[in-house]
Amino acid sequence: MKLFDVYPLFDLEIVSGKGCYTYDSHGTEYLDLYGGHAVISIGHSHPYYVNRITEQAKKLVFYSNSVVNSLQQQLADKLGALSGYDDYSLFLINSGAEANENALKLASFHTGKKKVIAFAHSFHGRTSAAVKVTDNPRIVAPINDTFEVAFLPLNDMARVEQEMAGGDVCAVIIEGIQGVGGIQIPEVQFLQELREACSRHHVVLILDEVQSGYGRTGKFFAHQYAGIRPDLITVAKGMGNGFPIGGVLISPQFTPVYGMLGTTFGGNHLACAAACAVLDVMRDEHLVDNAARVGQYLIDRLREIPQIKEVRGKGLMIGLEFDQPVKELRNRLLFEQHVFTGASGTHVIRLLPPLSLSQEQADCFIGKLKTILS
Ligand code: PLP
Repeated sequence: MKLFDVYPLFDLEIVSGKGCYTYDSHGTEYLDLYGGHAVISIGHSHPYYVNRITEQAKKLVFYSNSVVNSLQQQLADKLGALSGYDDYSLFLINSGAEANENALKLASFHTGKKKVIAFAHSFHGRTSAAVKVTDNPRIVAPINDTFEVAFLPLNDMARVEQEMAGGDVCAVIIEGIQGVGGIQIPEVQFLQELREACSRHHVVLILDEVQSGYGRTGKFFAHQYAGIRPDLITVAKGMGNGFPIGGVLISPQFTPVYGMLGTTFGGNHLACAAACAVLDVMRDEHLVDNAARVGQYLIDRLREIPQIKEVRGKGLMIGLEFDQPVKELRNRLLFEQHVFTGASGTHVIRLLPPLSLSQEQADCFIGKLKTILS
């Protein structure tokens, strides 16, 4: 059987990783400034994390959600404490798209409506509802009439008010910082006004923190820079440091009803062990503070490089926009300088390193980038 060929691949195989480095099948070391789409939060093969998963795997990998799994409550307690949302409830699934799918469902149940406001250049995943609220020309959306969606320009409060005036909107879904859309940051005032308008119109505010959450921006969630509290927050990616897990943080105004949501694998023992280990390491190694400090350092150094048109971002979620397409530059960084980076569209390099990146590693990247650009 051959693989269904829907992703372009670099011609190299990564076989291991340690901290902020990965190693290919020939033993070549790469500085990882991408963390496999923002997934590696605490660094590759962190010993505490490896031990926690290994010990759990020896005991029990999975048992169904028809019996108590105390690891889920452990995870919820740790997440509540570290994120500042201990009064919210947690529903566990396996990925970011699933988190958004369930958040949209909850919003629709809660309000009895099916219109959703999303924003230009948004990306919320590829399941049937998540892809419907995604505005990206490269992503093929199937025919799907579950939700009616209005895509509005980011930061345009007048258009949001206009759309909400119809009284048929169930939810607004917005990324803490747009990742796939090119590291676009919603304005603080816009988020605050959005929060107020959602409350006034009884619309559910969903913050998609799948990419911008879990400490990446130097706060636990990117929206915390605006001091707002959404109704639903979706998480995944860095939550399991590579182990598939996602979640929806649900505000106390939602009442759970049996049968409302469900999952087979969501919150399984192994996933919870991985996610608990991630939060322990984030807390003990102060990784959110590290992301804020090293991220700001990296942003400041990058802004000194004249060939970069614009540097955008917060913490360790950074976009470098160039006047020319970045494909060649990324290839040279990878194959000549052995640095992994990501891209958003054609002209933006996207940096999403492990939150443990050191200042020395940031300097090392700057040196390699300057070599290629000079
Ligand atoms: N939401 C955002 C903001 C994302 O960046 C992504 C993935 O890139 C998703 C949702 C979908 O997550 P997953 O690929 O885990 O389904």
